[in-house]
Amino acid sequence: ELSAAVAAKEERILVSVRVRPLNAKEFEKGDSSDWDCINDTTIVFKHPPPGERALFPTSYRFDRVFGKDVGTRQVYEEGAKEVALSVVRGINSSIFAYGQTSSGKTYTMTGITEYSVADIYQYIQKHAEREFTLKFSAMEIYNEAVRDLLSAESTPLRLLDDPEKGTIVEKLIEETLRDQDHLRELLSVCEAQRQIGETNLNEMSSRSHQILRLTIESSNKVYVGRNTSTLVACVNFVDLAGSERASQAMSAGMRLKEGCHINRSLLTLGTVIRKLSKGGRNGHVPYRDSKLTRILQPALGGNARTAIICTMSPAHSHVEQSRNTLLFASCAK
Ligand code: ADP
Ligand code: MG
Repeated sequence: ELSAAVAAKEERILVSVRVRPLNAKEFEKGDSSDWDCINDTTIVFKHPPPGERALFPTSYRFDRVFGKDVGTRQVYEEGAKEVALSVVRGINSSIFAYGQTSSGKTYTMTGITEYSVADIYQYIQKHAEREFTLKFSAMEIYNEAVRDLLSAESTPLRLLDDPEKGTIVEKLIEETLRDQDHLRELLSVCEAQRQIGETNLNEMSSRSHQILRLTIESSNKVYVGRNTSTLVACVNFVDLAGSERASQAMSAGMRLKEGCHINRSLLTLGTVIRKLSKGGRNGHVPYRDSKLTRILQPALGGNARTAIICTMSPAHSHVEQSRNTLLFASCAK
């Protein structure tokens, strides 16, 4: 049945892979590009080492694959837009950037956030019959401690269980937005907050998760029969910790408590995503095992929409991490 097929497709996680260009440092080292995006859904490994062909797949298919020449606008249009804009229809959503440090997560997510916000404001302008309220909040999870990126306070925020709303972040600042410029100001506040007190920003961003959340409330301005209900939903833009934080642990066969490099939120997110992609929406999904998945639970699984953009370097020197990223992406499909 067509509607069932559409519903099934809607339920799935939208998974894309984006390969960035070789950077100057890689280029100078004489690093080569190992990967080819042969069409818009397939990426292949170019040089399978002799004898290694059986060890790992050399061709991978996803909903979308973006090569080095594809701009963020297109990545957004094809890999995130539909999911981001479901928020105006009252459907929660999350968009993730997953990948090793320096693979392009922040580059990609910053663009996607900007384009989404512009489209959401455009939608609002076109729907003058409804009244919209936008709210913005931002947090960072570092070592399983949640910090408000709109506050100068560095005290970790507690998570509380609300019988109606589910998990809420206590005292998290929620700014009501006046306009797009106001949001731009707040985004630069977040940027500044992230950097305060950090001697090594790169180290910090490779270990922490950033969640930017836009909540949209809308209702009809005039009474039009049954259609008067208020819609409330949020979209989360999630710039994850470097995926090497999870894969180091897994490849070394370590258990969660054994090392300081291991990122609980990242590992749990992987488990949650795998369960959801296997249709585990009815079974047990371990949302409660990490701060990230507790916070995002209302926007993951159930009726929510999810998009994951997996970013990777094309460089030969990063082949191990790139393979791990593709493996994660394959599990999320
Ligand atoms: P991450 O957040 O994953 O650590 P960044 O987004 O900071 O990585 O990207 C690392 C560097 O590579 C940055 O200088 C960024 O501008 C650049 N970069 C990332 N992706 C692309 C891309 N698709 N095209 C051009 N430059 C990119
Ligand atoms: Mg980053």
